[in-house]
Amino acid sequence: MKKILIIHTGGTIAMSEDRQTGAVKPNLENPLHETIMNIQAVHIDVEDFLNVPSPHITPSHMITLSKRIDYCLMDQGYDGVVITHGTDTLEETAYFLDLTVQSNKPVVITGAMRSSNELGSDGPHNLISSIHTAMSDSAIDKGVLVVLNDEIHTAKNATKTHTSNIATFQSPQYGPIGIVTKRGVFFHHSPTQRDQFKVEELHHKVLLLKAVAGMESDIINALCNIHLDGLVVEALGQGNLPPETIKPLKKLIDRNIPVVLVSRCFNGIVQDIYGYEGGGKQLKDMGVIFTNGINGQKARIKLMVALERTRDVQELQKIFQQ
Ligand code: ASP
Repeated sequence: MKKILIIHTGGTIAMSEDRQTGAVKPNLENPLHETIMNIQAVHIDVEDFLNVPSPHITPSHMITLSKRIDYCLMDQGYDGVVITHGTDTLEETAYFLDLTVQSNKPVVITGAMRSSNELGSDGPHNLISSIHTAMSDSAIDKGVLVVLNDEIHTAKNATKTHTSNIATFQSPQYGPIGIVTKRGVFFHHSPTQRDQFKVEELHHKVLLLKAVAGMESDIINALCNIHLDGLVVEALGQGNLPPETIKPLKKLIDRNIPVVLVSRCFNGIVQDIYGYEGGGKQLKDMGVIFTNGINGQKARIKLMVALERTRDVQELQKIFQQ
């Protein structure tokens, strides 16, 4: 019989709605404890790791969770792990785990858009789909998987696309890699390659900045005056920035602070196409690091993790091309 560990961290999936005020809040006892009672043919253990809304999750929680998962999969004989998590930052934790968990056994992360006592509550269903996914041999070697609404997504591509709809998690440009039905778990794609990093601690502060039309130099100048180890810039289109941002960005790069470029478009990749002031060609020549399709919040996680290995711009560029 397979042995699966469920690690709860909180989020709407563990909350309920106050009938009087309509406010959705955490509970003292996780309502999901009852959900798993009906699952058979699997041994399930449950760990109440945290009980927080996901805007309270920090990189320090993520690294503790990553080490805990590896310990349970590699030393405690579990066949798979399911994590429940708030959906707001779920994609960041999922991607962090994808980059840092060393085991190739199934790790599935799930959440819910409707709390436990709301009509059409999706938590129990998502939890059960996730347990079935974690039990599946086909989920081995696929990296961390995001399972909600009967779909299986990779941690690298899944992103929260809707504020309230239960079909919020999508993988723009790529789609899900599998589905969960009443009869089983079916994969129709395999992820190409998984980047893995052995990280013991996180020491680097990385910020994310979104470019806008008419952006001036002031915010980036202000960044030159605070402690910063890396910056991710969500650029326009194919990877271009307003001209006023160039001088202060160059100042950061000259100080050996890596600047990583993603696009605010949610499809496509950034490239050194345009040759005007602020265009991708100038950014590339300045030493800006180009990414390969991940979004801003994931590039920040990846830069934090990658900086534990290297500060070398050439090496970082290779890491971000994967
Ligand atoms: N605000 C909630 C959270 O991330 C949303 C959710 O869980 O769906 O904790």
